[in-house]
Amino acid sequence: MTQTNEYPTRAYGASDSSGRIARMDIVRRGLREDDVLIDISHCGICHSDLHTARNDWGRTTYPVVPGHEIVGTVAALGDGVSRHEIGDRVAIGCIVDACMECSHCEQGLEQYCKQGMVGTYGGTDRRDGSKTHGGYSTRIVCRDEFVLKVPEALSSEHCAPLLCAGITTYSPLRTWKVGPGSKVAVAGLGGLGHMGVKFAVAMGAEVTVLSRSADKRADAIALGAHDFLITTDKAAMKAQAATFDMVLNTIPVRHDVTPYLHLLGIDGVQVLVGMIDMMPEVHTGLFLGRKVLAGSGIGGLAETQEMLDLCAEKNIAPEIEMIAMQDVNTAYDRMEESDVKYRFVIDMKSLQEA
Ligand code: NAP
Ligand code: ZN
Repeated sequence: MTQTNEYPTRAYGASDSSGRIARMDIVRRGLREDDVLIDISHCGICHSDLHTARNDWGRTTYPVVPGHEIVGTVAALGDGVSRHEIGDRVAIGCIVDACMECSHCEQGLEQYCKQGMVGTYGGTDRRDGSKTHGGYSTRIVCRDEFVLKVPEALSSEHCAPLLCAGITTYSPLRTWKVGPGSKVAVAGLGGLGHMGVKFAVAMGAEVTVLSRSADKRADAIALGAHDFLITTDKAAMKAQAATFDMVLNTIPVRHDVTPYLHLLGIDGVQVLVGMIDMMPEVHTGLFLGRKVLAGSGIGGLAETQEMLDLCAEKNIAPEIEMIAMQDVNTAYDRMEESDVKYRFVIDMKSLQEA
């Protein structure tokens, strides 16, 4: 059985709920039979990283090394690994393990594993009980089945945001069968939202962006949206009542979803992917139109690989701004101000060379 030495690893993480990210070196486990060692080249910054670092959800255990939009190159393999080779460009998203035996895992819905999926950071390893640490680091060890393949045509930096922002918006659009003739509204034009627009447009839907930021109108149209509504403009929102099949709601804070329910037509669905919180009360006026209020979490392994392959084939890529690891705190502050166009990606060379 393979059991290499452990790998001392440079990383950045948070030590307390101030959420300040600083150098914090960690040790990656020696390779097990089914493990892959990956040299990380890029890692996207998700708003969930910020929520976790600042303990917005009240369940962070410190220290935490965030990052679940990971791309890199295979550097070593456990003896039992045959699906990857040294030198392959590979990726890891939000999950690094699951039971793989329950009825949810068997359907390819590992993110909803009945025993609980293991998060890429802040999770507990199923075999040795150690804590998982994410992609703000120079390398990572991961079970081979949870390592995805980066298609040739996708650059590593453009691939990274697809691992969370991409799959989290792709999956509900597929689940609710968005296609030609669908009218989709995307609420919040950030990392998730801009990928939601790109995917819904690629699927043939008519897409409207719902935003608080008037200065994002030109970007929304350039991303392929057909219309742009300022959510504080009550008259404009009212004029669009009962016209949408889906609202994909990516807003990252607790808020009233009622104005978005009013936008739905018969059997319309509002899918919450952004707000991970208690919701303000919602009136059951949902019955007036048989409306559905739903949620969706990332996507399974096969669906994530399908999405990566589709992005390569159809030339779908996120809009990114590259940063050095050392600039992550500024990036967090800017993300909180909705000042990111539209995903920060860390160039891990900056940490390798630090
Ligand atoms: P982001 O890049 O910061 O984008 C969020 C966008 O929402 C902002 O650009 C802004 O768009 C809008 N917004 C921000 N604050 C708002 C407020 N107070 N009120 C109304 N709108 C606001 O964040 P992200 O990375 O896309 O993540 C969005 C959320 O999804 C986060 O909460 C994250 O934790 C969650 N998430 C969930 C899953 C899942 O599996 N369900 C996966 C990944 C992330 P405008 O300027 O256009 O208004
Ligand atoms: Zn994420």
